[in-house]
Amino acid sequence: MIHKNTPLKEVLALAAPCRCNACNHGCKFGSGSLVGDDAKRIARFLNISEEDLKKGFLEEVELFNKKLPRPRLIREKNKPYGRCVFFDDEKGCTIHEVKPLECKTSISCKDYGEELSVWFMVNHAVDVDNAESIRQYAKYIKSGGKLIEGARIEQLVPDKVKLRKILKYEIL
Ligand code: SF4
Ligand code: SF4
Repeated sequence: MIHKNTPLKEVLALAAPCRCNACNHGCKFGSGSLVGDDAKRIARFLNISEEDLKKGFLEEVELFNKKLPRPRLIREKNKPYGRCVFFDDEKGCTIHEVKPLECKTSISCKDYGEELSVWFMVNHAVDVDNAESIRQYAKYIKSGGKLIEGARIEQLVPDKVKLRKILKYEIL
């Protein structure tokens, strides 16, 4: 079972290195966020600088009130979604070996796939030091979002008084 504190190494061992159309489907409508040294590894793989990667291939996305870089989406006119700039119809992901951690943790064919995605979310998107991020996570849970071990809101913010104030917008 995947826990909030499951180490990255174990998570990566669960993230299968394979590729097929089931996982590729999401690449036609979005892309996964970069964290840690993803940008460095992708830039090295493409043989360009991190600055050129950022300018030419990335955009910002907001997840739980946190801004994260992700591969740029090639959008059709007036559509909020689009295909990932690194997706190729024939080859699939053209940076497969170094793809962003969120892509690696998006696995559609395993029963633990959803837990892996939530692991990414609670460790890399939800910011325990940001009240709005916590409120958005609380809404996610309330609306029936998947919960993993160690990621109950009371575990993320153990100070009960602080949590109550956050949820009542007394801390902004
Ligand atoms: S994890 Fe499953 S769905 Fe994803 S590429 Fe591998 S076989 Fe396909
Ligand atoms: S980086 Fe690769 S796996 Fe991730 S969304 Fe783009 S094409 Fe898909």
